[in-house]
Amino acid sequence: MKKPKLRELREAIKSLFSPAYTTRFPAEPAPAPPAYRGKGRFDEEHCIGCGACAQVCPADAIEIIDDTDSLTPTRTLIRHDDICIFCGQCQALCTTEKGIECTPEWDLATLDCSTCAVSIKKELFVCNLCGAVITTKDHLRWLAERLGAKRYTNPTLIMVAEEKLGLISTDSGISDQPTDRGNTMQVLCPHCRRHVLLREVWG
Ligand code: SF4
Ligand code: SF4
Repeated sequence: MKKPKLRELREAIKSLFSPAYTTRFPAEPAPAPPAYRGKGRFDEEHCIGCGACAQVCPADAIEIIDDTDSLTPTRTLIRHDDICIFCGQCQALCTTEKGIECTPEWDLATLDCSTCAVSIKKELFVCNLCGAVITTKDHLRWLAERLGAKRYTNPTLIMVAEEKLGLISTDSGISDQPTDRGNTMQVLCPHCRRHVLLREVWG
């Protein structure tokens, strides 16, 4: 019985002079390991608002709200960290690879869930004829840039590419013109584009 007691005493004395194994959190910050996946953050420059992250999220933690009633149609993406399971799929499968990041911030304890949401807003393109949401302006610009010369096969992408030159206006809005050839050089959803092309070919 005596031997174990002596061993415990020796351990106790040794621990008095050795560094602590525990951290001093919350008195001092406790940094997470480099690969830690914590609080989400959208990147204003690299997120194009395509919504792919919401589609791959297994926990449905990313919400997409399209507001087409305002003067400037807008898409809002909201990542709810109180629902998130921190799997990192949104970051790994982001279309631009840099649109969203799981930061090492891990101390998310709160009594107010609204503080767990991070969001980003992107302007939308709506079809000039029917008003249906096409996608965000940044998404179409990204596509036009990636496609290079191939974008000139699609009038909507031509409009987006030429917008930079200030030659053609791509203001979102709904036209009251009939669906005919005159609408070819408009920002159109796939349905209206097909309708306009069929009218042009078949009358
Ligand atoms: S760019 Fe990335 S973060 Fe932004 S909406 Fe698309 S997939 Fe999500
Ligand atoms: S980390 Fe996983 S659960 Fe959380 S928002 Fe991204 S995809 Fe969804």
